[in-house]
Amino acid sequence: MHKKIDLKACYALNVLLKNLKLHTICQEANCPNISECFSKKIATFLILGNICTRNCRFCAVKKGKPGVVDIEEPERIAEAVSRLNLKHVVITSVTRDDLPDGGAEHFAKTIYSIRKKMKKIVIEVLIPDFKGEKEAIKKVIEAKPDIIGHNIETVPRLYPIVRKGANFLRSLEVLKTVKALSNGIYTKSGIMLGLGEKEEEILEVFKDLRKVNCDFLSIGQYLSPSRKAYPVKEYVHPDRFDYYKERALALGFLYVASGPYVRSSYLAEEYLEHVEDNKK
Ligand code: SF4
Repeated sequence: MHKKIDLKACYALNVLLKNLKLHTICQEANCPNISECFSKKIATFLILGNICTRNCRFCAVKKGKPGVVDIEEPERIAEAVSRLNLKHVVITSVTRDDLPDGGAEHFAKTIYSIRKKMKKIVIEVLIPDFKGEKEAIKKVIEAKPDIIGHNIETVPRLYPIVRKGANFLRSLEVLKTVKALSNGIYTKSGIMLGLGEKEEEILEVFKDLRKVNCDFLSIGQYLSPSRKAYPVKEYVHPDRFDYYKERALALGFLYVASGPYVRSSYLAEEYLEHVEDNKK
């Protein structure tokens, strides 16, 4: 696969991130699409530091004791978004089980700061499960992002093996709560293939996501980020990604991105654009 890389644009984005002391999940998680996205001046911002309190075995983000919350970070994110003149921004975070609200307030402040600078931008947040705390989820909803994502990541059977500290039903409940408490916020989730899941388990997850009215879905190939991380059990053929996309769409998702290199924030603007095009 050949993708056009603009080294100058990549460099400029790296400098901007460094000057504003910002993290991206693209860098922290060794995303395979980083050159392509950075070439287009697109990055998924990682707030609340770059150290996670959980220990998911598929994830490259550093684990340990995070530092204090940087209260000026929301303003600097807004500054970066404005300088990049983004039309769509994706904000995510590490999981901060050490904070009473899991970092929900910080998410909300980041959304408000961006909105203050850029009225028309589409804001997508990819949130952790906040241990299922409804009040925390509500704080994010009240800040009115356009899309709230929470990744289901894998099938329930593999949670105790690769996603200790999370709970499949709790993650579903997060998406359900967003729909129940918000008016018009789209929900999105993502699943990785290649961790050892079976077809029937994947299709069951699709159905579960639709039962909580999840609007958007991303399906991508799991790539092991290090030798210590959970190993890849299968490299799924691209045709199978097309097959799962069709099966998911048949269940009523508004948009599904599916392919080996798809990540939950990859070409994130396409989901809503597709919905808007369908309205015309
Ligand atoms: S909670 Fe998220 S950032 Fe933390 S280890 Fe798991 S996947 Fe990585």
